[in-house]
Amino acid sequence: MSAQINKNFLNISQSYLFAEIAKRIRDWQAANPEHASKLIRMGIGDVTRPLPETVVEALVKASREMGVAETFHGYGPEQGYDFLKTAIQNYYTRFHVALEQDEIFISDGAKSDIGNILDLFSVDNTVMVTDPVYPVYVDTNVMAGRKIIYAYSSEENGFLPMPAPEYKADLIYLCSPNNPTGAVYNREQLTAWVNFARDNGSIILFDAAYECFVTGDLPHSIYEIPGAKEVAIEFCSFSKKAGFTGTRCGYTVVPYALKRDGADLNHMWLRRQTTKFNGVSYIVQRAAEAVFTPEGEKQINENIQYYKDNAKIITDTLDRMQIFYTGGKNSPYIWMKCPGGMKSWDFFNDLLEKAYVVGTPGAGFGKSGEQFFRLTAFSTHENTEEAMRRFERIYG
Ligand code: PLP
Repeated sequence: MSAQINKNFLNISQSYLFAEIAKRIRDWQAANPEHASKLIRMGIGDVTRPLPETVVEALVKASREMGVAETFHGYGPEQGYDFLKTAIQNYYTRFHVALEQDEIFISDGAKSDIGNILDLFSVDNTVMVTDPVYPVYVDTNVMAGRKIIYAYSSEENGFLPMPAPEYKADLIYLCSPNNPTGAVYNREQLTAWVNFARDNGSIILFDAAYECFVTGDLPHSIYEIPGAKEVAIEFCSFSKKAGFTGTRCGYTVVPYALKRDGADLNHMWLRRQTTKFNGVSYIVQRAAEAVFTPEGEKQINENIQYYKDNAKIITDTLDRMQIFYTGGKNSPYIWMKCPGGMKSWDFFNDLLEKAYVVGTPGAGFGKSGEQFFRLTAFSTHENTEEAMRRFERIYG
């Protein structure tokens, strides 16, 4: 007798994208030591601005409370403290979405919940993802042995695939604003997805990790669409909103109205979390609460604006050069067509060798990315300007 492994792990494609990028940079640096200091990284997916002062103050205050017997906090509620859930509940009212407090579950970030939510679903469920795709949606389902259907996208549909009979699946992943394409579904388009899910008994797993970049009349939350509460779970994060990539906090909304097979998914998720999760630290939840104070909001908006200004430097350059792209306006990601019909890895090499600039080849996010390239707005103004100057000089 011996332990059997989950053989589905053998089917996960090795995530070589960022390792391969790092290797190519190392090789280039070794071959070009005289230019190594000129390298500019435009592929960064992590934020670079520090935590806002208000958030830091909340962290310090909460830490001090933990050192005093009267204000010490031990195990908290697995699903999060009410003070943070109230702040999130109030935030949603701005989009005219009314949530019950217990429909909101605080987590240590969107990535864990996106993976963990699959505990609620049968391995026999089919899954649809849009391609190009945030690889977590694919790998978590391959680990469980689920069948995946890809909704491919292109310049023609603005990288926003729409429902079609061949995309019928039990679980549908949508990410808007999208990583990697930066494309955002409008109300009409999201309504079509919600109706598609309603017609087919599907559940939409909606990733709103970048909602804070949305402006104008575009939806921040899927629950802005009538009927969505019966068919959608929403994931969100403080990572990009408030610089919490290293601090770790997010939340998931599972509406009471979401039911399948006579079961209430909100209760199932509560049961799952109280069994397998012991909550996010009090200190971090106090920090997340501070994000919603008027001062905290002012400070995080300055950081978001900083990234948006970078995105504008990039999109202005691409507009001048008449290069097709999506994103950048309501997203920190710009998804551009490689110049001269180049394939994404060829363009990666060309850009590195000629401009000493690094981005992310679209092929790493799926078939639809073969001729596309992702630039991010998380660099400094100075580096973004310099990178785009070099880019325009070479490809303009
Ligand atoms: N969803 C998308 C689309 C992302 O791009 C990321 C992070 O890059 C996440 C979720 C994960 O966010 P978190 O840091 O909250 O785990």
